[in-house]
Amino acid sequence: MKIVKTIAEVRKQVKEWRHEGLTVGLVPTMGYLHEGHASLIDASHRDNDRTVVSDFVNPMQFSPTEDLESYPRDIAHDAKLVEAHGGDLIFHPEPEEMYHEGFSSFVDMTVLTEELCGLSRPIHFRGVCTVVSKLFNIVQPDRAYFGKKDAQQLAVIRHMVNDLNMNLEIIGCPIIRESDGLAKSSRNTYLNTEERQSALVLSQAVFLGMNMVKKGEKDCSVILDAMKKHIEAEPLAKIDYVKIVDCATMQQIPTLDRPALCAMAVYIGKTRLIDNFFTEDV
Ligand code: AMP
Repeated sequence: MKIVKTIAEVRKQVKEWRHEGLTVGLVPTMGYLHEGHASLIDASHRDNDRTVVSDFVNPMQFSPTEDLESYPRDIAHDAKLVEAHGGDLIFHPEPEEMYHEGFSSFVDMTVLTEELCGLSRPIHFRGVCTVVSKLFNIVQPDRAYFGKKDAQQLAVIRHMVNDLNMNLEIIGCPIIRESDGLAKSSRNTYLNTEERQSALVLSQAVFLGMNMVKKGEKDCSVILDAMKKHIEAEPLAKIDYVKIVDCATMQQIPTLDRPALCAMAVYIGKTRLIDNFFTEDV
């Protein structure tokens, strides 16, 4: 397993693999890797001959008021995890390598990015689409792996790949949770003991909503009211949004008459956490 910091080194390595006729999977991450990321690396390792993991806290997807500076980083730990899960190369660039002086091209998307997280994070998906496009161009993978934990991001990437005729397959992987239900996230490290306990309202609301869907409830407002009521009972929790949207368009729907995503963002103290379920997975 190698760690490289430049685009040229990634290209050289991938070129060698291509000469040998090997397939390549890409797992884009912001580092501080946990078992959620590991599950994506495992999936890529299963499907491809070689796996590249990008480990880059992308400044372009953070607004000035967000946690770019405090976002946790630990490349030594990440290297051990990637190696243990069969990854072959970590691409760990400095921001200047990805965004040279004079950088001025962006990948922007309308509609899908204007709902859910896009409302409270207006520049976020432009940063995500731009960096992911760059990673696709640098690595040119056969497949790229994204977690359903970031469900809107997964939908946005699928849409971008289709709109812009990018020649790779996007694989969505299930949410990996702690044993008590909390979705694993690098941002969970921000939570103190009391907040960590309060954060369980997210997964509890997800499981509550899933059960209602399983029992046949079709009225989105009935499902959302029950989920919101559960979250609002927790004093440390403040809802950013809890919504049910069409899976393909990310637009809100009143009735479960098509494949849907039920997604939420909730502040626990100062930490903004997300969780969700797809009705098709219920
Ligand atoms: P991040 O480093 O948070 O940008 O995440 C990198 C990738 O890992 C994204 O595709 C995430 O959706 C995925 N991921 C993060 N947490 C989880 C999780 N708990 N389960 C599954 N995938 C995850």
